[in-house]
Amino acid sequence: MPIHFSDRDVVSEVAGLSSVLIVPCYMCPAVTVSVREKKPFIQLFRSFLKSAPFDQYIKTLQSRLKEHGVKTRVFKSMPSHEWFMCMWTSGKRKKLQKYAEQYDAVIVLGCDSATETVREAIKSTDCKVIEGMEVAGIMNAQIRFHLPGNVSFENSKIVPISQIKQKEVALE
Ligand code: SF4
Repeated sequence: MPIHFSDRDVVSEVAGLSSVLIVPCYMCPAVTVSVREKKPFIQLFRSFLKSAPFDQYIKTLQSRLKEHGVKTRVFKSMPSHEWFMCMWTSGKRKKLQKYAEQYDAVIVLGCDSATETVREAIKSTDCKVIEGMEVAGIMNAQIRFHLPGNVSFENSKIVPISQIKQKEVALE
């Protein structure tokens, strides 16, 4: 199941900046927001392959940044095989580099692997990388399909990633 996130305070990170490119991973963060808000992840017949709760989350983030004088744009990832930032094609990474050159910073909505994708793609630019979300654990949930085409996650709980720490200790 997907990684679950909590939000980081990005407003303090953008102080003094005038423009930011928001780069969302459309998988785990979108599931996180849908679970947090207890809303369907996808409603095929209302917004096709767009997760409405995550879309609203990004719009709210943009409004908050605008209030602080920061201009934003969202780096889109369609079609759906581009949702997973940890598996972006080289073409997608090059496209990000081209876009990022026009901004002071990139806000990544995703995990450390998503951030690594961004750092690697824009390393030749002066763009600051800001992490907008923090890993809180792995989600355990029951996926449910409702007519007329809704996908939801129910009875969810967050499992800590304790095994990683144990493995790190074992490797030392
Ligand atoms: S980049 Fe991270 S957040 Fe996005 S799909 Fe991959 S594991 Fe999930």
